[in-house]
Amino acid sequence: MLENIRIVMVNTSHPGNIGAAARAMKNMSLQQLYLVDPLEFPSAEAASRATHAVDIINNAVVCPSLSSAIADCSLVIGTSARERNLNWVIEKPHQMALTALAQCQAVDAPVAIVFGRERTGLTNQELALCHRLVHIPTNPDCSSLNVAAAVQVIAYELFNTVQEYQTESFSTKPDGDDQAALAGQIQTLHQHLQQVMSEVEFFGSNNPENVMRRLQIFLNRAQPSRRELNILHGILTAMQRKL
Ligand code: SAH
Repeated sequence: MLENIRIVMVNTSHPGNIGAAARAMKNMSLQQLYLVDPLEFPSAEAASRATHAVDIINNAVVCPSLSSAIADCSLVIGTSARERNLNWVIEKPHQMALTALAQCQAVDAPVAIVFGRERTGLTNQELALCHRLVHIPTNPDCSSLNVAAAVQVIAYELFNTVQEYQTESFSTKPDGDDQAALAGQIQTLHQHLQQVMSEVEFFGSNNPENVMRRLQIFLNRAQPSRRELNILHGILTAMQRKL
């Protein structure tokens, strides 16, 4: 199950943090590292901080954007240094691990856990691409961990949860179109929706960005199946035919 967990680090400034994250991953049997637009990579410092996890560094996949790093994932979990966010239910690491591992067992696609920039975390646009959020409980006066330390805690929680539940089944496996839709498929529906909304002149003179962001968060939170997305595409296409 852990082979289907993908750690995604967004726009990391310090290559040492990439190396330390790779080491933390290897200690906890995680393998897949995706780097979205890292400031300095490949890097000797990343390799040296990774020590025995240099294979994870060498196999790391560099992507230009978060949406391309997660398009083939069935679940995208963002990490937040903040305890509260109006748009999301924020889970603790153990709950996150149960959800992520159940999803790994139910769908043959990766589950992404997304980590933000050292100084500024994830942008609102990036958070809107996430289906759920996890926060590591901390001292409220000092809630932000070093990003590699956050990778360590999350990786440990996943590893430990697999050990505890190894003999139990996390969930039953739905077939075909009843499986959870991939992140890229949800994005395509979101684009189709925007297209029809502009065709029916829903936006008027208003900027579509705000309402589209809300709809994106809503769709991601709903975690629709492929069949449900097909129904929605069908409805939208029927409306377009009538127009
Ligand atoms: N000032 C930023 C903090 C960024 S810390 C902010 O408020 O968002 C860099 C990254 O480390 C975060 O984006 C997140 O991925 C991870 N991180 C740090 N502290 C965390 C915590 N308590 N829980 C979960 N992730 C955390």
